[in-house]
Amino acid sequence: QEREARVVDAAPKQLYINGQWRDARQGRVLEVRDPSTGSLLCTVANASPEDGRDALEAAQAAQQGFAAMPPRQRATILMRAFELMHERKDDLALLMTLEMGKPLADAAGEVVYAAEFFRHFAEEATRISGGYQDAPTGNARFLIRQEPVGPSLLITPWNFPLAMGTRKLGPAIAAGCTSVLKPAELTPLSMLALAQILEDAGAPPGVVNIVVTSTAGQVMEPLIRSGIARKLSFTGSTQVGKKLLEQCADKVLRTSMELGGNAAFVVFEDADVDKAVDGAMLAKMRNSGEACTAANRIFIHRSVLQEFSEKLAQRMGELKVGRGVDEGVQVGPMVDATQLDKVKELVDDAVGAGAEVVVGGEVAPGDGYFYQPTVLRDVPREARMWTEEIFGPVAPLTPFDSEKEVVDLVNDTEYGLVNYVYTNDLNRALRVAESIESGMVGLNQGVVSNPAAPFGGMKESGLGREGGDTGIDEFLETKYIGIAMA
Ligand code: ADP
Repeated sequence: QEREARVVDAAPKQLYINGQWRDARQGRVLEVRDPSTGSLLCTVANASPEDGRDALEAAQAAQQGFAAMPPRQRATILMRAFELMHERKDDLALLMTLEMGKPLADAAGEVVYAAEFFRHFAEEATRISGGYQDAPTGNARFLIRQEPVGPSLLITPWNFPLAMGTRKLGPAIAAGCTSVLKPAELTPLSMLALAQILEDAGAPPGVVNIVVTSTAGQVMEPLIRSGIARKLSFTGSTQVGKKLLEQCADKVLRTSMELGGNAAFVVFEDADVDKAVDGAMLAKMRNSGEACTAANRIFIHRSVLQEFSEKLAQRMGELKVGRGVDEGVQVGPMVDATQLDKVKELVDDAVGAGAEVVVGGEVAPGDGYFYQPTVLRDVPREARMWTEEIFGPVAPLTPFDSEKEVVDLVNDTEYGLVNYVYTNDLNRALRVAESIESGMVGLNQGVVSNPAAPFGGMKESGLGREGGDTGIDEFLETKYIGIAMA
């Protein structure tokens, strides 16, 4: 309790603009609450459009100098920040658990995962390459170099408060782009703590600016349309992403969009059922189900449905639900009342349509926004949860009979972020993985996120890839210099 208060007390709560910590111009604040109790943690500065403008102008002013900073020096900032995140891991994890709800072990895991983006992109910063080639006619040469896109706007969601930030800031800094980052208003503390780390790691004033606001649209739209920003990288809902794409059209901004998902988890009759259950626990319960990669539709071959359903229900029933800070807790609260209501509504809808509750199915007791880990069987096709992201600890199972049938079911969605496939038949594994319309496929594994791999979606799940060896390209512009040969 004392440590909780101390960590919240020590956390930065102001806007970070041009290397300075300051209150919002009109003194506005917003409240940050602990979703496991509903109680107030603290208030933080709540930016107005004028504050947003200040931040973007600071990014603009710093852009040229930062682009000229030697790549090795940009890499060093990222490496120092990586190390500081490890040094401050325990406090960062606690802060994240308090504002977001996830169990402490998950939060500590996220700090390490988030820091890894900084290390990965520190290594990429010094590997930005170019080219020198002959024109086909032979009478000219092409000199090709990569330049930073320019001042970038970064918008992140609440479910991975640190990692979604480092995944954007890492490549932006590596590429030499300055930025204005707007974290989700539900979880601003983690990102402000990260700004402190970047400052301590030597990021020059104006290179990273953090603007927290409860009025995201009013603050961000003028920045998107300003003509100063050259790039928007967004992680969030498909609905908001589409709106932002329209706004970006105005000044033809480069965009990266990590939007919603509707992941399928498929278990064939030739799979190792125990391993598939382990994988489903990860694919479903990582972050208590609050992930765009979460298994949202679980298709089990009819011949193994009974066994899978019993084993999964047993594991789900054993999970300890509670405040993320408490010892041994594996499932935290939903982030707020809206999310909890959504989960409840989707389960009630599925049950009303004829789904059978194998375990859970109810709101869990407590002052916070808890929902029981739930397994539903034979969820009918009309149920809303087949088309809407559940974003909670609910696993809907349904049987299938043939490979063709299940591939069609997997692809029957406007989303295409990730799908998971369990089979021990190599030919089937490759055949199915190649026919699935998603940016990522987990083959016999329930987690695909890795800073060194290209993360992103097809169809309405997004544009572009983050991480991997192409993540930095999203922040680079290609310039070709044509040279006449005498
Ligand atoms: P989620 O369902 O994860 O909350 P949202 O798309 O609503 O997804 O939010 C993701 C991020 O986008 C958050 O930082 C949120 O504040 C921000 N956001 C929401 N609406 C807008 C908007 N109109 N303009 C800019 N950012 C927005």
